[in-house]
Amino acid sequence: YSGKSANQLLIEHIQSLMVKDYKSRPVVVQEKTSVYDAICTMFLEDVGTLYVVKGQNRLSGVLSRKDLLKAAMGNHELTAVPVSVVMTRMPNIVTCKLDDTLVHAAGQMMRHQVDSVPVVRIAGDEEWEIIGRITKTTIARAFVELGENISI
Ligand code: ADP
Repeated sequence: YSGKSANQLLIEHIQSLMVKDYKSRPVVVQEKTSVYDAICTMFLEDVGTLYVVKGQNRLSGVLSRKDLLKAAMGNHELTAVPVSVVMTRMPNIVTCKLDDTLVHAAGQMMRHQVDSVPVVRIAGDEEWEIIGRITKTTIARAFVELGENISI
């Protein structure tokens, strides 16, 4: 018997959950994609955040629902406006890595008040390849798994 309290074991279990085991597939669009097409993609793919890439999946920006709503509110011709003018850009994007803990990724979302963080790996000088995403839904799923599996 380890002598650890049930509470301590629970904490250690939660802290052992890793981004690499919970990440989901990122939905990406290119920088030149129009705001109109990005809105269509968001509906068709049923996601709340799109990631903008250039070249070989190099992370360039983030598009939230409100970013696209804001772009749609003006008198713009939405098929003529590229997402690169309305997205949040690198290096202002909060990211996480495959071997970060899920608690760390959730903390980043809370601290920066965003709905998701892209999972990236270094792909060169100041370049990051996007390989996944962690969203608030990911955290809800992990929470339900913890709650439904009480025998740790
Ligand atoms: P919404 O704007 O629909 O409420 P978010 O809270 O996720 O969705 O996004 C708020 C703002 O933060 C948006 O302008 C978005 O581009 C930006 N954003 C979203 N995710 C990130 C992130 N991981 N890092 C930095 N900025 C982000």
